[in-house]
Amino acid sequence: MRTICLKVPRGEAEYVRKKLLSDDLLDISLRIRGEGDYIYLPVREGIPDLGYETVEQDLEDRELATTDYRTLVDAPGEVRDRLPASFDVIGDVAIIRLEDDLVDLAPSIGEALRRTFPRLRTVALDRGVKGELRVRDLEVVAGEEGTETTHLEYGVRLLIDPAKVYFNPRLSNERRRIASLVRDGETVVDMFAGVGPFSLMIAKYARPEIVFAMDLNHDAVEYMKRNVALNKVTNVLPIEGDARQLVFDVPCADRIIMNLPHSAREFFHDALTRLKIGGMIHFYTICDREDIDPILDRLVTEAAGMGVLIAILRREELKTYSPSMSVFSADIGLVDWC
Ligand code: SAM
Repeated sequence: MRTICLKVPRGEAEYVRKKLLSDDLLDISLRIRGEGDYIYLPVREGIPDLGYETVEQDLEDRELATTDYRTLVDAPGEVRDRLPASFDVIGDVAIIRLEDDLVDLAPSIGEALRRTFPRLRTVALDRGVKGELRVRDLEVVAGEEGTETTHLEYGVRLLIDPAKVYFNPRLSNERRRIASLVRDGETVVDMFAGVGPFSLMIAKYARPEIVFAMDLNHDAVEYMKRNVALNKVTNVLPIEGDARQLVFDVPCADRIIMNLPHSAREFFHDALTRLKIGGMIHFYTICDREDIDPILDRLVTEAAGMGVLIAILRREELKTYSPSMSVFSADIGLVDWC
């Protein structure tokens, strides 16, 4: 079928595809085509200018396979309608969350998922995230025991055991965005680095002088060291310990990543004192949607009280956390010391 496509260089195609998909601008009824150095992404009408050439191409129709695992779960219709429509996949491990009265169905849901998506090795039930290390309480309900797996994100390989360390696969676009902002020679501090997804994305797609990657969880730092080796990078330095202290043990930074949404606010002022003029903090927080602007305004006022002029350069609602709450990211620039 003849259709309008975005002509995107191969290296940028995955990023643009995901962006189009999340903005509902990709025409998923047609097959994506690659030719030479370019990928042709079929787009819907009325697409805004994304800085790529639009061209007409003949693309094949795509058969949309049945991917609704719920049709395979042995349960009455009204129960089936309450089963989750989406779930996280880390490597070849699927992680499902269920309302309390549906937990007995977990093994049947696990088998249905594995039949629908044969590449899933294991399905685990998530019984909640615990403590300051944010580790999930996981129970394998279908497939092989053991949740250690290798996850691929924009070409970055991450060895992870989601039962021992925190990892959120839904932040891949955000991590790629941050990496695209890093300038040559920057000193970066990743205060809550986990197994290193932000740090390694930066090392892969930018040329920082060094990334200091900190985490309190011993297992996370051990996985991060293995991931540094796996991705053959030389400028990421994993450090185990409390970032509240460690941030004073490393040089001042051009960029600080604060991906601890439940409590990053408690660390913000210390981090600010370790940022160079012109530097940027990537701040993540969970709050009611109506509270985000007052929270950011308060950070600006409190910084002014410390004699620091900061500016909120960008903020974005990244994902829904509960009916009223979301996870937000904010890029906060240090303009000057007053
Ligand atoms: N940035 C990683 C990612 O995107 O997957 C991990 C983010 S996770 C939300 C927060 C991480 O902060 C966890 O790995 C946890 O162990 C770590 N953490 C919690 N408190 C900490 C502290 N005081 N100092 C250093 N790391 C801490």
